[in-house]
Amino acid sequence: MAINRNIRICTHIKVNGTRCGSPALREEVFCYFHQRMIRGVRTPPKSRLHPIALIEDGSSIQASLMEIINAVVRNHMDLSRARVVLRALYIAAKNSHAANFDVFHSSIVDEIPQYPAAPPADTPVPPGQQKVRFDNTNIKSTYCNVCNATSTREEVVINFGVNKTWDMGTPDLEVQLEHRIILSPFAAKRLQDLLARLIAEHEQRYGKLS
Ligand SMILES: [Zn+2]
Repeated sequence: MAINRNIRICTHIKVNGTRCGSPALREEVFCYFHQRMIRGVRTPPKSRLHPIALIEDGSSIQASLMEIINAVVRNHMDLSRARVVLRALYIAAKNSHAANFDVFHSSIVDEIPQYPAAPPADTPVPPGQQKVRFDNTNIKSTYCNVCNATSTREEVVINFGVNKTWDMGTPDLEVQLEHRIILSPFAAKRLQDLLARLIAEHEQRYGKLS
């Protein structure tokens, strides 16, 4: 095959000592690949995908690996993020033999289909106006006639139990604790308000509790 002497060849020398051999870009010393990897090329503005994520084939996966290694070595990427990306690239490498983004040019579409517009998303309900649905499928009823409570800055702990002392005059009372309910102070205050309203209604109906 005749070689066009006017086409300059990429000056990149591979680690094995051989020249790249691909045509160099006009007015550049590298081919597109080496220009992109070594000096960088302009990518489309407002590109939705980060170039590392554009893994179309084995070569692009390899190129993404180079970018990750470079970013980690130059301390431009934290290790936890690099781990996730490397894991994704490992999956991509395993899938690459089955993934085929090559297309038959005769069947490729040449315009974006006109899909109907998506329906508007549900308007979010402002806090405090949501309806509460109580699911009582797993509810258990327990009789308790004793409760005690303690609190810390973060929590209010209420224990519920049954007095097991049936003999009058026994010096010690035995209480079998059945449930421990742990509430935030905010929930505990709401419980206080609820109980206050409930007891007020009860006393109105049945007389003062003493
Ligand atoms: Zn090259």
